[in-house]
Amino acid sequence: MPELIEWPCDFPRCDLLVLQDWAICEYCFEVRCSEHDTDEHHECNSLDSREARKQKKQDSKRSYLAGLLERLQEHATVIIDQASKLHHGLSCNLIIPENTDQLLESGLLAGFNVHFKLNFQDGTKWLLRIRQDQGHRIPLEIRHSNIASEVATLNTLNAGGLPVPAAFLPPSLEQELPFDYFFYEFLEGETWHIPKHPFYSVTLPDEKLVQLVEGYAQIQVKLSQMTIPVNKIGCLRHNSSQELSVGPIIARGCFQKPQSPYLLGPFDTMKDRYLAHIDAALRYIALGAICSWDPVDAYLWHLELRELVSSNGMMAQPLKEVFIKHDDEKGDHIMWNEKGEVVGVLDWEWAYVTSKGEAFSSPYIFYDMQDYIRGSNELTKEEHMLMGCYERQNRPDLVDCVKNGRLYQRLTRIGQYDSAYGKEGFREPFRPIPISDFDPPSSDTDWRVYMMKRYNGEEALQKVMAKYGWSVERAEKEAQEYNKEKK
Ligand SMILES: [Zn+2]
Ligand SMILES: [Zn+2]
Repeated sequence: MPELIEWPCDFPRCDLLVLQDWAICEYCFEVRCSEHDTDEHHECNSLDSREARKQKKQDSKRSYLAGLLERLQEHATVIIDQASKLHHGLSCNLIIPENTDQLLESGLLAGFNVHFKLNFQDGTKWLLRIRQDQGHRIPLEIRHSNIASEVATLNTLNAGGLPVPAAFLPPSLEQELPFDYFFYEFLEGETWHIPKHPFYSVTLPDEKLVQLVEGYAQIQVKLSQMTIPVNKIGCLRHNSSQELSVGPIIARGCFQKPQSPYLLGPFDTMKDRYLAHIDAALRYIALGAICSWDPVDAYLWHLELRELVSSNGMMAQPLKEVFIKHDDEKGDHIMWNEKGEVVGVLDWEWAYVTSKGEAFSSPYIFYDMQDYIRGSNELTKEEHMLMGCYERQNRPDLVDCVKNGRLYQRLTRIGQYDSAYGKEGFREPFRPIPISDFDPPSSDTDWRVYMMKRYNGEEALQKVMAKYGWSVERAEKEAQEYNKEKK
Protein backbone atom coordinates (compact mmCIF):
# COMPACT_ATOMS: atom_id res chain seq x y z
CA MET A 1 0.00 0.00 0.00
CA PRO A 2 1.51 3.29 -1.01
CA GLU A 3 1.77 6.15 1.41
CA LEU A 4 -1.36 8.23 1.84
CA ILE A 5 0.07 11.42 0.44
CA GLU A 6 -0.79 13.56 -2.55
CA TRP A 7 0.42 12.04 -5.83
CA PRO A 8 0.27 14.03 -9.07
CA CYS A 9 -1.88 12.53 -11.84
CA ASP A 10 0.31 10.78 -14.44
CA PHE A 11 -1.88 11.73 -17.39
CA PRO A 12 0.13 13.95 -19.76
CA ARG A 13 -0.06 17.62 -18.87
CA CYS A 14 -2.38 17.03 -15.90
CA ASP A 15 -1.03 18.21 -12.56
CA LEU A 16 -3.99 17.46 -10.31
CA LEU A 17 -3.04 15.86 -7.01
CA VAL A 18 -4.64 12.60 -5.98
CA LEU A 19 -5.09 11.67 -2.32
CA GLN A 20 -6.50 8.18 -2.19
CA ASP A 21 -5.47 4.76 -0.95
CA TRP A 22 -4.33 2.87 -4.03
CA ALA A 23 -3.79 6.19 -5.83
CA ILE A 24 -1.01 4.39 -7.73
CA CYS A 25 -2.91 1.88 -9.85
CA GLU A 26 -1.85 -1.62 -8.83
CA TYR A 27 -1.96 -2.80 -12.44
CA CYS A 28 -0.23 -0.07 -14.46
CA PHE A 29 1.59 1.71 -11.58
CA GLU A 30 0.23 5.06 -12.77
CA VAL A 31 -1.82 7.69 -10.97
CA ARG A 32 -5.08 8.95 -12.41
CA CYS A 33 -7.12 11.83 -11.08
CA SER A 34 -10.90 11.36 -11.16
CA GLU A 35 -11.13 13.25 -14.44
CA HIS A 36 -8.65 10.88 -16.11
CA ASP A 37 -9.71 7.68 -14.40
CA THR A 38 -11.99 6.86 -17.31
CA ASP A 39 -11.98 3.98 -19.82
CA GLU A 40 -10.59 6.38 -22.40
CA HIS A 41 -7.70 7.67 -20.29
CA HIS A 42 -6.92 4.70 -18.07
CA GLU A 43 -6.67 1.40 -19.87
CA CYS A 44 -6.88 -0.66 -16.68
CA ASN A 45 -10.56 0.27 -16.44
CA SER A 46 -11.16 -1.80 -19.56
CA LEU A 47 -9.24 -4.87 -18.40
CA ASP A 48 -12.18 -7.21 -18.16
CA SER A 49 -10.73 -10.35 -16.63
CA ARG A 50 -8.67 -11.29 -13.66
CA GLU A 51 -6.19 -12.82 -16.07
CA ALA A 52 -5.85 -9.57 -18.04
CA ARG A 53 -5.30 -7.56 -14.86
CA LYS A 54 -2.74 -10.07 -13.63
CA GLN A 55 -0.90 -9.85 -16.94
CA LYS A 56 -0.93 -6.04 -16.85
CA LYS A 57 0.45 -6.06 -13.32
CA GLN A 58 3.21 -8.47 -14.31
CA ASP A 59 4.10 -6.34 -17.34
CA SER A 60 4.26 -3.19 -15.20
CA LYS A 61 6.39 -4.94 -12.61
CA ARG A 62 8.80 -6.22 -15.26
CA SER A 63 9.14 -2.84 -16.85
CA TYR A 64 9.70 -1.21 -13.45
CA LEU A 65 12.37 -3.78 -12.55
CA ALA A 66 14.05 -3.42 -15.95
CA GLY A 67 14.35 0.32 -15.29
CA LEU A 68 15.73 -0.36 -11.83
CA LEU A 69 18.38 -2.73 -13.24
CA GLU A 70 19.42 -0.05 -15.69
CA ARG A 71 19.71 2.59 -12.97
CA LEU A 72 21.64 0.18 -10.78
CA GLN A 73 24.12 -0.58 -13.60
CA GLU A 74 24.58 3.12 -14.11
CA HIS A 75 25.38 3.75 -10.44
CA ALA A 76 27.12 0.45 -9.60
CA THR A 77 30.53 2.05 -9.08
CA VAL A 78 29.14 4.47 -6.48
CA ILE A 79 27.41 1.59 -4.65
CA ILE A 80 30.57 -0.55 -4.71
CA ASP A 81 32.65 2.35 -3.50
CA GLN A 82 30.25 3.06 -0.63
CA ALA A 83 30.11 -0.61 0.41
CA SER A 84 33.88 -0.88 0.31
CA LYS A 85 34.30 2.20 2.52
CA LEU A 86 31.80 0.72 4.98
CA HIS A 87 33.72 -2.59 5.13
CA HIS A 88 37.35 -1.76 5.94
CA GLY A 89 38.07 -0.51 2.42
CA LEU A 90 37.91 -4.04 1.02
CA SER A 91 36.89 -4.38 -2.59
CA CYS A 92 33.67 -6.17 -3.53
CA ASN A 93 31.56 -7.36 -6.42
CA LEU A 94 27.98 -6.27 -6.87
CA ILE A 95 26.01 -9.01 -8.61
CA ILE A 96 23.51 -7.42 -10.96
CA PRO A 97 21.29 -9.84 -12.90
CA GLU A 98 21.55 -9.37 -16.65
CA ASN A 99 17.82 -9.04 -17.16
CA THR A 100 14.44 -9.09 -15.44
CA ASP A 101 14.01 -12.86 -15.92
CA GLN A 102 17.24 -13.50 -14.05
CA LEU A 103 16.20 -11.07 -11.33
CA LEU A 104 12.78 -12.70 -10.95
CA GLU A 105 14.41 -16.13 -10.73
CA SER A 106 17.04 -14.98 -8.23
CA GLY A 107 14.68 -15.24 -5.27
CA LEU A 108 15.91 -11.82 -4.16
CA LEU A 109 12.63 -9.99 -4.59
CA ALA A 110 10.90 -9.63 -1.26
CA GLY A 111 7.62 -7.78 -0.88
CA PHE A 112 8.42 -4.11 -0.80
CA ASN A 113 12.15 -4.54 -1.46
CA VAL A 114 14.55 -6.07 -3.93
CA HIS A 115 17.99 -7.39 -3.04
CA PHE A 116 21.33 -7.65 -4.83
CA LYS A 117 24.32 -9.61 -3.55
CA LEU A 118 27.64 -8.03 -2.68
CA ASN A 119 30.67 -10.30 -2.25
CA PHE A 120 33.77 -8.91 -0.53
CA GLN A 121 37.28 -10.16 -1.10
CA ASP A 122 37.47 -11.46 2.51
CA GLY A 123 34.46 -13.72 1.87
CA THR A 124 31.94 -11.45 3.63
CA LYS A 125 28.54 -11.39 1.92
CA TRP A 126 26.17 -8.45 2.07
CA LEU A 127 22.90 -7.56 0.44
CA LEU A 128 22.02 -4.27 -1.12
CA ARG A 129 18.38 -3.71 -0.11
CA ILE A 130 16.49 -1.39 -2.44
CA ARG A 131 12.94 -0.22 -1.78
CA GLN A 132 10.55 -0.93 -4.63
CA ASP A 133 8.74 2.32 -5.36
CA GLN A 134 6.71 1.43 -8.47
CA GLY A 135 8.22 4.45 -10.17
CA HIS A 136 6.72 6.81 -7.56
CA ARG A 137 9.34 7.83 -5.10
CA ILE A 138 8.04 8.93 -1.73
CA PRO A 139 9.13 12.36 -0.46
CA LEU A 140 12.68 12.69 0.84
CA GLU A 141 11.71 13.27 4.46
CA ILE A 142 9.74 10.02 4.64
CA ARG A 143 12.22 7.85 2.78
CA HIS A 144 15.23 9.03 4.75
CA SER A 145 13.41 8.43 8.04
CA ASN A 146 12.22 5.05 6.78
CA ILE A 147 15.68 3.78 5.82
CA ALA A 148 17.40 5.29 8.88
CA SER A 149 14.81 3.71 11.15
CA GLU A 150 15.13 0.23 9.64
CA VAL A 151 18.92 0.42 9.95
CA ALA A 152 18.73 1.65 13.58
CA THR A 153 16.26 -1.13 14.42
CA LEU A 154 18.37 -3.85 12.78
CA ASN A 155 21.52 -2.74 14.56
CA THR A 156 19.78 -2.45 17.92
CA LEU A 157 18.42 -5.98 17.51
CA ASN A 158 21.75 -7.30 16.27
CA ALA A 159 23.57 -5.78 19.24
CA GLY A 160 20.90 -7.28 21.51
CA GLY A 161 21.72 -10.79 20.30
CA LEU A 162 18.77 -11.34 17.98
CA PRO A 163 19.47 -13.29 14.77
CA VAL A 164 19.20 -10.16 12.66
CA PRO A 165 21.73 -8.86 10.12
CA ALA A 166 23.82 -5.83 11.00
CA ALA A 167 22.96 -2.96 8.67
CA PHE A 168 24.91 -0.11 7.12
CA LEU A 169 23.59 3.26 6.09
CA PRO A 170 25.04 4.67 2.86
CA PRO A 171 26.35 8.23 2.97
CA SER A 172 23.67 9.04 0.41
CA LEU A 173 22.86 12.60 1.34
CA GLU A 174 25.89 13.85 -0.60
CA GLN A 175 25.30 11.99 -3.82
CA GLU A 176 21.72 10.88 -3.87
CA LEU A 177 20.97 8.00 -6.20
CA PRO A 178 17.65 7.47 -7.97
CA PHE A 179 16.55 4.71 -5.58
CA ASP A 180 16.45 4.19 -1.82
CA TYR A 181 18.67 1.57 -0.25
CA PHE A 182 20.98 0.42 2.47
CA PHE A 183 23.34 -2.50 3.00
CA TYR A 184 23.08 -5.43 5.36
CA GLU A 185 24.73 -8.73 6.09
CA PHE A 186 23.59 -11.75 4.14
CA LEU A 187 22.02 -14.46 6.31
CA GLU A 188 21.97 -18.10 5.24
CA GLY A 189 18.64 -19.84 5.69
CA GLU A 190 15.26 -20.19 4.10
CA THR A 191 11.86 -18.69 4.75
CA TRP A 192 8.62 -20.66 4.68
CA HIS A 193 5.61 -19.76 2.69
CA ILE A 194 2.81 -19.49 5.26
CA PRO A 195 -0.57 -19.90 3.49
CA LYS A 196 -3.28 -17.95 5.31
CA HIS A 197 -6.87 -17.62 4.11
CA PRO A 198 -8.46 -14.51 5.67
CA PHE A 199 -11.15 -16.66 7.34
CA TYR A 200 -9.09 -19.57 8.59
CA SER A 201 -5.97 -20.65 10.46
CA VAL A 202 -2.67 -20.87 8.64
CA THR A 203 -2.66 -24.06 6.62
CA LEU A 204 0.46 -25.86 7.78
CA PRO A 205 0.83 -29.50 8.82
CA ASP A 206 0.48 -29.81 12.62
CA GLU A 207 4.14 -30.48 13.16
CA LYS A 208 5.17 -27.45 11.15
CA LEU A 209 2.65 -25.22 12.93
CA VAL A 210 4.13 -26.27 16.29
CA GLN A 211 7.56 -25.41 14.94
CA LEU A 212 6.35 -22.01 13.69
CA VAL A 213 4.74 -21.10 17.02
CA GLU A 214 7.79 -22.27 18.97
CA GLY A 215 10.15 -20.36 16.69
CA TYR A 216 8.00 -17.26 17.00
CA ALA A 217 7.88 -17.59 20.81
CA GLN A 218 11.64 -17.96 20.95
CA ILE A 219 12.12 -14.66 19.11
CA GLN A 220 9.54 -12.89 21.26
CA VAL A 221 11.22 -14.08 24.46
CA LYS A 222 14.51 -12.66 23.21
CA LEU A 223 12.82 -9.38 22.30
CA SER A 224 11.32 -9.22 25.79
CA GLN A 225 14.80 -9.54 27.32
CA MET A 226 16.19 -6.53 25.47
CA THR A 227 16.48 -3.25 27.30
CA ILE A 228 15.81 -0.36 24.97
CA PRO A 229 17.04 2.86 26.58
CA VAL A 230 14.09 5.02 25.49
CA ASN A 231 10.53 5.42 26.73
CA LYS A 232 8.50 6.88 23.91
CA ILE A 233 6.35 5.25 21.24
CA GLY A 234 7.63 5.59 17.69
CA CYS A 235 10.34 4.29 15.36
CA LEU A 236 13.93 3.95 16.48
CA ARG A 237 16.65 6.15 15.02
CA HIS A 238 20.07 7.39 15.89
CA ASN A 239 20.38 11.10 16.58
CA SER A 240 23.25 13.23 15.31
CA SER A 241 25.54 12.06 18.12
CA GLN A 242 24.71 8.43 17.28
CA GLU A 243 22.62 7.89 20.40
CA LEU A 244 19.53 5.74 20.09
CA SER A 245 16.34 7.78 20.22
CA VAL A 246 12.71 7.53 19.17
CA GLY A 247 11.52 9.37 16.09
CA PRO A 248 8.10 9.61 14.49
CA ILE A 249 6.05 6.61 13.42
CA ILE A 250 6.80 5.51 9.87
CA ALA A 251 3.76 3.55 8.89
CA ARG A 252 1.72 2.45 5.96
CA GLY A 253 -1.85 3.58 5.53
CA CYS A 254 -3.47 6.44 7.36
CA PHE A 255 -1.11 6.92 10.33
CA GLN A 256 0.43 10.04 8.79
CA LYS A 257 -0.46 13.38 7.27
CA PRO A 258 -1.06 13.97 3.56
CA GLN A 259 1.33 16.92 3.43
CA SER A 260 4.79 17.69 4.76
CA PRO A 261 6.07 16.92 7.36
CA TYR A 262 3.93 13.78 6.85
CA LEU A 263 5.04 11.85 9.92
CA LEU A 264 3.36 11.77 13.34
CA GLY A 265 4.88 11.19 16.76
CA PRO A 266 6.79 10.13 18.77
CA PHE A 267 4.25 9.74 21.60
CA ASP A 268 4.43 9.55 25.38
CA THR A 269 1.42 7.34 26.00
CA MET A 270 -0.55 4.68 24.15
CA LYS A 271 -3.56 6.94 24.46
CA ASP A 272 -1.79 9.79 22.61
CA ARG A 273 -0.52 7.35 19.98
CA TYR A 274 -3.92 5.83 19.24
CA LEU A 275 -5.83 9.11 19.38
CA ALA A 276 -3.38 10.55 16.84
CA HIS A 277 -3.95 7.52 14.62
CA ILE A 278 -7.75 7.73 14.93
CA ASP A 279 -7.73 11.48 14.26
CA ALA A 280 -5.56 10.93 11.19
CA ALA A 281 -8.07 8.33 9.96
CA LEU A 282 -10.96 10.75 10.58
CA ARG A 283 -9.17 13.42 8.54
CA TYR A 284 -8.50 11.04 5.65
CA ILE A 285 -12.11 9.80 5.67
CA ALA A 286 -13.37 13.41 5.60
CA LEU A 287 -11.09 14.04 2.61
CA GLY A 288 -12.49 10.98 0.81
CA ALA A 289 -9.06 9.31 0.78
CA ILE A 290 -9.94 6.11 2.67
CA CYS A 291 -13.04 4.01 3.43
CA SER A 292 -14.72 5.61 0.42
CA TRP A 293 -17.09 2.62 0.07
CA ASP A 294 -18.70 3.40 3.43
CA PRO A 295 -17.47 6.83 4.56
CA VAL A 296 -20.21 7.83 6.98
CA ASP A 297 -20.25 4.58 8.97
CA ALA A 298 -16.45 4.57 8.88
CA TYR A 299 -16.41 8.08 10.32
CA LEU A 300 -18.93 7.18 13.04
CA TRP A 301 -17.04 4.02 13.93
CA HIS A 302 -13.78 5.92 14.33
CA LEU A 303 -15.61 8.38 16.60
CA GLU A 304 -16.65 5.41 18.72
CA LEU A 305 -13.06 4.10 18.80
CA ARG A 306 -12.02 7.58 19.87
CA GLU A 307 -14.33 7.40 22.86
CA LEU A 308 -13.09 3.93 23.81
CA VAL A 309 -9.44 4.98 23.70
CA SER A 310 -10.04 8.39 25.37
CA SER A 311 -11.76 6.81 28.35
CA ASN A 312 -9.21 4.03 28.89
CA GLY A 313 -7.12 4.65 32.00
CA MET A 314 -4.48 2.01 31.27
CA MET A 315 -3.58 3.58 27.92
CA ALA A 316 -3.06 6.99 29.51
CA GLN A 317 -0.23 5.75 31.76
CA PRO A 318 3.29 6.91 30.87
CA LEU A 319 5.51 4.01 29.77
CA LYS A 320 8.38 2.87 31.94
CA GLU A 321 9.81 0.56 29.28
CA VAL A 322 9.27 -0.10 25.59
CA PHE A 323 9.84 -3.07 23.32
CA ILE A 324 10.42 -3.49 19.61
CA LYS A 325 7.39 -4.66 17.64
CA HIS A 326 7.85 -6.15 14.18
CA ASP A 327 5.15 -4.63 12.01
CA ASP A 328 4.82 -7.31 9.34
CA GLU A 329 4.57 -10.64 11.14
CA LYS A 330 3.32 -12.74 8.26
CA GLY A 331 5.30 -15.77 9.40
CA ASP A 332 7.54 -15.61 6.34
CA HIS A 333 9.75 -13.11 8.14
CA ILE A 334 11.38 -15.97 10.02
CA MET A 335 14.39 -17.77 8.49
CA TRP A 336 15.11 -21.40 9.25
CA ASN A 337 18.01 -23.77 8.77
CA GLU A 338 17.78 -27.40 7.67
CA LYS A 339 17.41 -28.57 11.26
CA GLY A 340 14.32 -26.40 11.67
CA GLU A 341 16.01 -23.85 13.90
CA VAL A 342 15.38 -20.12 13.65
CA VAL A 343 18.43 -18.50 12.09
CA GLY A 344 17.10 -15.10 11.21
CA VAL A 345 14.26 -12.61 11.45
CA LEU A 346 13.79 -10.29 8.48
CA ASP A 347 11.79 -7.32 7.26
CA TRP A 348 12.00 -4.81 10.10
CA GLU A 349 10.80 -1.91 7.97
CA TRP A 350 8.03 -0.08 9.95
CA ALA A 351 9.01 -1.80 13.21
CA TYR A 352 8.43 0.49 16.18
CA VAL A 353 8.84 0.60 19.92
CA THR A 354 5.74 0.38 22.04
CA SER A 355 4.23 -0.87 25.29
CA LYS A 356 4.83 -4.40 26.44
CA GLY A 357 1.13 -5.18 26.09
CA GLU A 358 1.10 -4.28 22.42
CA ALA A 359 4.54 -5.67 21.57
CA PHE A 360 3.67 -9.14 22.85
CA SER A 361 0.09 -9.44 21.71
CA SER A 362 -0.06 -12.28 19.19
CA PRO A 363 0.45 -11.70 15.44
CA TYR A 364 -2.55 -11.63 13.08
CA ILE A 365 -1.67 -14.98 11.51
CA PHE A 366 -2.58 -16.54 14.87
CA TYR A 367 -5.98 -14.91 15.39
CA ASP A 368 -7.46 -13.07 12.38
CA MET A 369 -10.13 -15.51 11.18
CA GLN A 370 -13.88 -15.86 10.73
CA ASP A 371 -14.94 -15.83 14.40
CA TYR A 372 -12.67 -12.88 15.14
CA ILE A 373 -14.16 -10.98 12.21
CA ARG A 374 -17.66 -11.69 13.53
CA GLY A 375 -16.64 -10.16 16.86
CA SER A 376 -15.45 -13.06 19.00
CA ASN A 377 -12.45 -12.41 21.22
CA GLU A 378 -11.99 -16.03 22.27
CA LEU A 379 -8.34 -17.03 22.17
CA THR A 380 -7.50 -19.28 19.24
CA LYS A 381 -5.78 -22.64 19.13
CA GLU A 382 -2.57 -20.95 17.93
CA GLU A 383 -2.68 -18.44 20.79
CA HIS A 384 -3.09 -21.24 23.32
CA MET A 385 -0.08 -22.92 21.74
CA LEU A 386 1.89 -19.67 22.03
CA MET A 387 0.86 -19.25 25.67
CA GLY A 388 1.96 -22.85 26.26
CA CYS A 389 5.43 -21.99 24.93
CA TYR A 390 5.66 -18.98 27.23
CA GLU A 391 4.50 -21.05 30.20
CA ARG A 392 7.17 -23.64 29.54
CA GLN A 393 9.72 -20.85 29.55
CA ASN A 394 8.30 -19.56 32.80
CA ARG A 395 7.09 -16.28 31.31
CA PRO A 396 3.65 -15.63 32.82
CA ASP A 397 4.07 -11.96 31.87
CA LEU A 398 4.10 -12.87 28.16
CA VAL A 399 1.16 -15.26 28.67
CA ASP A 400 -0.79 -12.27 30.00
CA CYS A 401 0.18 -10.18 26.97
CA VAL A 402 -1.35 -12.81 24.68
CA LYS A 403 -4.42 -13.16 26.91
CA ASN A 404 -5.00 -9.40 26.95
CA GLY A 405 -3.81 -8.67 23.42
CA ARG A 406 -7.20 -8.11 21.80
CA LEU A 407 -7.37 -4.42 22.67
CA TYR A 408 -4.34 -3.64 20.49
CA GLN A 409 -5.17 -6.23 17.85
CA ARG A 410 -8.61 -4.66 17.40
CA LEU A 411 -7.02 -1.21 17.03
CA THR A 412 -4.98 -2.44 14.05
CA ARG A 413 -8.21 -1.93 12.06
CA ILE A 414 -7.97 1.86 12.41
CA GLY A 415 -8.35 3.30 8.94
CA GLN A 416 -9.82 0.08 7.54
CA TYR A 417 -13.48 0.16 8.46
CA ASP A 418 -15.34 -2.97 7.41
CA SER A 419 -18.88 -3.58 8.61
CA ALA A 420 -18.20 -7.34 8.48
CA TYR A 421 -16.13 -6.91 11.64
CA GLY A 422 -18.66 -7.12 14.50
CA LYS A 423 -18.55 -3.88 16.49
CA GLU A 424 -19.02 -5.55 19.86
CA GLY A 425 -15.68 -7.28 19.32
CA PHE A 426 -13.99 -3.88 19.50
CA ARG A 427 -15.81 -2.80 22.66
CA GLU A 428 -15.30 -5.92 24.70
CA PRO A 429 -11.53 -5.52 25.35
CA PHE A 430 -12.23 -1.99 26.64
CA ARG A 431 -14.86 -3.08 29.18
CA PRO A 432 -15.62 -1.83 31.75
CA ILE A 433 -16.06 1.36 29.73
CA PRO A 434 -16.24 4.31 32.13
CA ILE A 435 -18.65 6.41 30.05
CA SER A 436 -22.03 6.57 31.77
CA ASP A 437 -24.15 7.20 28.67
CA PHE A 438 -22.32 4.83 26.32
CA ASP A 439 -24.87 2.25 25.25
CA PRO A 440 -24.67 1.60 21.51
CA PRO A 441 -27.45 -0.58 20.00
CA SER A 442 -26.40 -3.94 18.58
CA SER A 443 -27.68 -3.60 15.01
CA ASP A 444 -25.61 -1.46 12.66
CA THR A 445 -28.61 0.51 11.39
CA ASP A 446 -29.71 1.50 14.93
CA TRP A 447 -26.08 2.14 15.87
CA ARG A 448 -25.74 4.57 12.96
CA VAL A 449 -28.72 6.61 14.20
CA TYR A 450 -27.40 6.48 17.79
CA MET A 451 -23.95 7.73 16.75
CA MET A 452 -25.29 10.45 14.45
CA LYS A 453 -27.40 11.82 17.30
CA ARG A 454 -24.58 11.44 19.80
CA TYR A 455 -22.29 13.51 17.55
CA ASN A 456 -24.78 15.94 16.06
CA GLY A 457 -22.61 18.85 17.20
CA GLU A 458 -19.49 17.57 15.41
CA GLU A 459 -19.00 19.84 12.42
CA ALA A 460 -16.66 17.53 10.46
CA LEU A 461 -19.19 14.68 10.74
CA GLN A 462 -22.00 16.95 9.50
CA LYS A 463 -19.85 17.80 6.46
CA VAL A 464 -19.12 14.13 5.71
CA MET A 465 -22.83 13.28 6.06
CA ALA A 466 -23.84 16.13 3.77
CA LYS A 467 -21.17 15.20 1.21
CA TYR A 468 -22.51 11.65 0.93
CA GLY A 469 -26.21 12.50 1.18
CA TRP A 470 -26.85 11.32 4.73
CA SER A 471 -29.04 12.83 7.45
CA VAL A 472 -30.35 11.52 10.77
CA GLU A 473 -33.79 11.25 9.10
CA ARG A 474 -32.45 9.01 6.35
CA ALA A 475 -30.62 6.85 8.89
CA GLU A 476 -33.78 6.57 11.01
CA LYS A 477 -35.84 5.57 7.99
CA GLU A 478 -33.33 2.88 7.01
CA ALA A 479 -33.26 1.58 10.58
CA GLN A 480 -37.06 1.37 10.68
CA GLU A 481 -37.18 -0.52 7.39
CA TYR A 482 -34.42 -2.86 8.49
CA ASN A 483 -36.10 -3.60 11.80
CA LYS A 484 -39.48 -4.15 10.10
CA GLU A 485 -37.92 -6.65 7.69
CA LYS A 486 -36.19 -8.46 10.52
CA LYS A 487 -39.52 -8.99 12.30
ZN1 LIG B 1 -3.90 1.34 -14.20
ZN1 LIG C 1 -5.48 13.95 -14.33
